[in-house]
Amino acid sequence: SQCVSTSVSRRFCASSRQMSVMPAWVIDNYGNNDVLRFTKNASFPVINYPNEVIVKVFAAGLNPLDVSMRGGYGAATMSMQRDPLNIKQSGSEFPLILGRDVSGVIMECGLDVKYFRERDEVWAAIPSWKQGSLAEFVVLSGNEVSHKPKSLSHTEAAAIPYVATTAWSALVNTGGLSKDNCAKKRILILGGSGGVGTFAIQMLKAWGAHVTVTCSQNAEQFLRGLGADHVVDYTAGPVEEPLSAVEKFDLILDNVGGDTEHWALNLLKPWSGAKYVTLVTPFLQNTDRMGIADGMMKTAATVGSKVVKHLVKGVHYRWGFFAPSGPALDEIREMVDAGQIRPVVEETFSFSQVPQAFEKVEKGHARGKTVVQIS
Ligand code: NDP
Repeated sequence: SQCVSTSVSRRFCASSRQMSVMPAWVIDNYGNNDVLRFTKNASFPVINYPNEVIVKVFAAGLNPLDVSMRGGYGAATMSMQRDPLNIKQSGSEFPLILGRDVSGVIMECGLDVKYFRERDEVWAAIPSWKQGSLAEFVVLSGNEVSHKPKSLSHTEAAAIPYVATTAWSALVNTGGLSKDNCAKKRILILGGSGGVGTFAIQMLKAWGAHVTVTCSQNAEQFLRGLGADHVVDYTAGPVEEPLSAVEKFDLILDNVGGDTEHWALNLLKPWSGAKYVTLVTPFLQNTDRMGIADGMMKTAATVGSKVVKHLVKGVHYRWGFFAPSGPALDEIREMVDAGQIRPVVEETFSFSQVPQAFEKVEKGHARGKTVVQIS
């Protein structure tokens, strides 16, 4: 009854109502890998707003966030996003479908969707509070979706959106970088070998930056192959020593966290607008632990005091966050189809092997991305 669709798609809409269930991997409570359950009876997604599209999933990328969310990470914040008025009972998010990356085909468009048509091949990063891509179908807002690069298979395309939109949000929106201002910049990526790092290296090299990365010794050749100019092995000893010996940086992207922020900001060029952007923040832990209001207050106080502490030394301290964005993916598609960025798929799994795919991501030491082939 809530299906809002174009006349062209009405027959899809009607058929989707008939197909009111679909195969998916779900969780019914938070926990370890045992909570993952395959079902043929997950609810078929419904278009509730006229700007939404239903995508048939061909491939789904996994991220460390999926493992964390399986364990309950971010549950408080995401409940608020799903149910801002707090009307529903706790646990109403279950059965929950994980999976933040999707590559697939548009099945149905809402009335206001102008940019897509049925059967378009698309890719997207899915907001964390929405049902994910480890399912046959997923519903998304049109502005979260983008046409998939023609040069990539669905499996390859599903390796990119979440890490790419995170890197875009951190480097472009928060870090102020663009294709036009990178040529003379020195960038340091702490943690270059994972999903975000392998994407960020390629994007920054395409924009002409000088890129230094840290990684373990056995990833050095791999990252040089993606374009890294200077590679520092963190397993050989504290990286701050070799990094202090080289010219200072214009921007640092921190994918590692922990004690890095105690020394990394000293590696920035002071009084030049240089920024340290970290992706490892206590934002969701604070709200999980303290509730939304107190957690937000604590977060604001923490980030505020750090910003001021570093500002007086002439450098900028920032937190970076994943931000779903179809328009950012449109720009990234151009770079992919121009051969400037390639997907780095480390391992693929079939739809029946989703628990094994989670185990792989949970082990860490990623060298690129883990992707599940759905159909
Ligand atoms: P991955 O798991 O894909 O990659 C992490 C990489 O870091 C691995 O290759 C690992 O390999 C390497 N690594 C581990 N320890 C170090 C170290 N001390 N120095 C250098 N490299 C190290 O993660 P992602 O790339 O997807 O994400 C990176 C981080 O960013 C994660 O902490 C993630 O939670 C966070 N993130 C935050 C987001 C936000 O919205 N704030 C969004 C996306 C990601 P090895 O151990 O073999 O060295």
